Amino acid sequence: ARIPLTVLGAGAMGTALVRAWLAAGHPVTVWNRTPARAEALAADGATVAASAAGAVAASRLVIACLLDDASVGEALDGVDLTGRDLVNLTTGTPAEGRARAAWARERGARFLDGGVMAVPPMIGDAGSGAYVFYSGSAELFEEHRETLAVPAGTRYVGEDAGFAALHDVALLSAMSGMFAGITHAFALIGPEDIAPKDFAPLLVSWLGAMTGSAHLAADQLESGDYGKDVVSNLAMQVAGNATLLRTAEEQGVSAELLTPYTALMERWLAEGHGEEDTTGMVELLDLRRGPA
Ligand code: NDP
Repeated sequence: ARIPLTVLGAGAMGTALVRAWLAAGHPVTVWNRTPARAEALAADGATVAASAAGAVAASRLVIACLLDDASVGEALDGVDLTGRDLVNLTTGTPAEGRARAAWARERGARFLDGGVMAVPPMIGDAGSGAYVFYSGSAELFEEHRETLAVPAGTRYVGEDAGFAALHDVALLSAMSGMFAGITHAFALIGPEDIAPKDFAPLLVSWLGAMTGSAHLAADQLESGDYGKDVVSNLAMQVAGNATLLRTAEEQGVSAELLTPYTALMERWLAEGHGEEDTTGMVELLDLRRGPA
């Protein structure tokens, strides 16, 4: 039997989630602050609730997918959560996830935080590779595992309710660096007679080949030996940076996306790590470590 569930939030992501569960035969109750967006889902078979309290009362399993953590607090302020299983698919920080977990437990609910690694068109498409990180109540996760697997794959990453957000945001942060690099690369070719459409496949295959280096970095971090199996030593890379920066200048392109990273590499080199890969630079970013 397909269990009934409630979705709070009919934004782009909430709407995609509702449609995926409806398509799999789950009875879905939906609430949205602005009623028109929820009402659009009635045609697909959803039951529209007039209030968040009414929506929460309708099902034991409640999924929240709102703008940010503050909107979750606002939407559920004063709502009775006793005996509910609250799954929060709203993007937040690890600390917000932990605080929301304690907040839900105080109100008599089991809680699972989630980080959605997908854009809305990937939801409900089994071949898209979409998945959600989950952390918090292992019992809740085990009990609703099949239902949660309907819109996207599931990866449970631990009882610490902050871990889903931590995994999510760590991946997004890595992506942000990659996008910065892509932006700079397109800026470099921008003034020339090079078609972005011809250049894009080169970027995709080069970045794809390079990301594999994360495996070696993990190996070095776990062994504590940054000099293990070195591929491109830091001294050589810092010398190479000068070429990157001069090329930016020649092309009339601001180096502002590159310089924070090149400066960090120079600091690590100055600390005597020229014969290693760049892996140890994570130490420079650790603000709790104090001055070296
Ligand atoms: P939208 O901007 O499309 O929707 C935001 C939703 O939050 C709407 O339902 C909105 O209601 C509601 N909302 C905002 N503020 C409040 C409030 N104070 N009280 C109650 N409801 C409120 O965003 P998405 O659906 O795209 O995103 C939802 C979550 O999913 C976000 O945390 C986002 O980071 C995450 N996510 C989104 C992805 C994406 O690509 N879209 C990818 C991965 C995660 P109203 O209609 O009334 O404004």
